[in-house]
Amino acid sequence: MSFFVKGIVLEQKKEPMLTRNTLVMRQEFEYFDCDFPDTALEDLSKEQIIELARLAEIVDESDGKMLWEKLEKASLGENATLIIDAIDDEPYISSQMSIGVHQPEKLALGIELCERVLSPEKTYIAMYKHIFDVNFSLPHRVGKYKVEKIGGLYPAESRAYRHLPKGKNSVIVGSCAMLHLARAAEEGRKMTSCFITVAGDAVKNPRNVEVPIGTTVEKILELCGLTEEPEVIVAGGSMTGRAVFEPENELVGPTTRGVIALCKSFSSKTYNCIGCGRCDHACPKALSVSMMRKLAELEKFDELREYDAALCIGCGACSYVCPARIDVAATIIKAKKQMELARKEGVR
Ligand code: SF4
Ligand code: SF4
Repeated sequence: MSFFVKGIVLEQKKEPMLTRNTLVMRQEFEYFDCDFPDTALEDLSKEQIIELARLAEIVDESDGKMLWEKLEKASLGENATLIIDAIDDEPYISSQMSIGVHQPEKLALGIELCERVLSPEKTYIAMYKHIFDVNFSLPHRVGKYKVEKIGGLYPAESRAYRHLPKGKNSVIVGSCAMLHLARAAEEGRKMTSCFITVAGDAVKNPRNVEVPIGTTVEKILELCGLTEEPEVIVAGGSMTGRAVFEPENELVGPTTRGVIALCKSFSSKTYNCIGCGRCDHACPKALSVSMMRKLAELEKFDELREYDAALCIGCGACSYVCPARIDVAATIIKAKKQMELARKEGVR
């Protein structure tokens, strides 16, 4: 395996979603009862803040875990760094960043509550650096919290996580989860909604939207309008999301960060591999991607293992650059799953 740094820089396409205010879909709010209703925000104890996150049923959008469990676990150790994930390094997606841009007070309050639980040595908000298409400068601070701009080749998110201080118990929480924590503390409000970027050339009014959890992709596209029938709809990130074939039955959840609808008249036809090696150069893990794809298609799993297929992080960069429009990442991820399944069955 090669140790050269590889990867690609992606065109971000964050506008006009990031400039526009979040569009909120009409919804009924839900509230919870707690044993300390009159406690002032500044007097809330560490245990009470964890309890608020539990009662509000907050799911962290960055990893799908319950926020209260993360906070409780992390509060037991010494925390070096608290990182607020607003990186959004995939094209189109800005749902986490938009919290810092449009609702900075709520974000700052959520972080302050988290800090009280964790007593970190350092706290910062992480945002992606190479965004050149926005009509304003991303903030350098949100309240008293510094915004660290994470640069470099895609995917910045996983690389940022790798650079956490070693040997210490650092914590990463999503910016949307911080907003929900602030609402729980101020209003006793449950998390019943999620923040989603709706974009793509088939969308009439590309926006960041706040919609109830469980809304269908079809309803979300109706909210923003379509210019024409999309050829492709993706739920999640534009690189790591999955194709939606039945938008009327596809429900969004706390970790759905985007809905992308594209009508570009590109052919869905794929071609044979031309051996150009672009996938090898794009891979941030420096894997021999073209060889892995061949082995995966032939289901030669023993050989695939030797090429470190298990190290694939599913970032989608190889599919993005492939001129033959082969979904290289999907082939490798599928083979990786088959290998894991075979390993588990072998253990049983
Ligand atoms: S999806 Fe996997 S193989 Fe493809 S570029 Fe990303 S890490 Fe490399
Ligand atoms: S980028 Fe596509 S065409 Fe080029 S080597 Fe990789 S799989 Fe083959």
